[in-house]
Amino acid sequence: CGIIGILGTQDASPLLIDALRRLEYRGYDSAGIATLHNGALDRRRAEGKLRNLEAVLRDEPLAGVAGIGHTRWATHGQPNVVNAHPHMSDRVALVHNGIIENFGDLRRELEGKGHTFTTETDTETIVMLLTDLLAAGVSPKDAMVMAMERLHGAFAIAVLIKGEEDLLLGARRGSPLAVGYGDGEMYLGSDAIAVGPLTPRIAYLEEGDIAVLTRQGAEIFNEKGEKVERRIQVTEVTG
Ligand code: GLU
Repeated sequence: CGIIGILGTQDASPLLIDALRRLEYRGYDSAGIATLHNGALDRRRAEGKLRNLEAVLRDEPLAGVAGIGHTRWATHGQPNVVNAHPHMSDRVALVHNGIIENFGDLRRELEGKGHTFTTETDTETIVMLLTDLLAAGVSPKDAMVMAMERLHGAFAIAVLIKGEEDLLLGARRGSPLAVGYGDGEMYLGSDAIAVGPLTPRIAYLEEGDIAVLTRQGAEIFNEKGEKVERRIQVTEVTG
């Protein structure tokens, strides 16, 4: 299971697939990508190996220079296309590694507020939680801080928001997530193997960190929402 996020300047789909291939070593049962194109979110997903996802993309390519990708190791819900990430609402596309332990309570609460769930995953509760906060007018960064307060478990996430062409959000608690600093491009990834060939300059998020990326750089916040600095290291990992 792995995560990749790209806020780039060229077609993201092939770069996302390449990064997911570098994450294959972690094991997975399904895979998917989502991009933001002309302000709109769209996604492609497939059960099984990455070549299945590539076949889907050949039939129905996905344009866009910003994207997120995921290899899934199912914990909640069958390994099928419906439960494959990215998960989406009318506002948010999100990939998640790990487990949301209190997803049952959160799901009931959010269903009570009128949100309709379409998967069996714990992940969809994060999508709806963020969607609910954004719909209430909360800023993307504050929505991440407030969502993190509600989520129990170990996880890493990457998020794209409809209409926000220059924004990629990440957060981690208990699962690794790294920020890659490119030249007018920025990245998120599970590890240096995923991000390294895109850029050697990587900062590892610490427990509870939230990263707000634009193409010009990253602002990193701790779980209280306070701005923090994380050291940028130069990695040796290449293609
Ligand atoms: N718990 C999530 C799911 O079952 C994420 C699994 C993963 O880490 O890939 O969809």
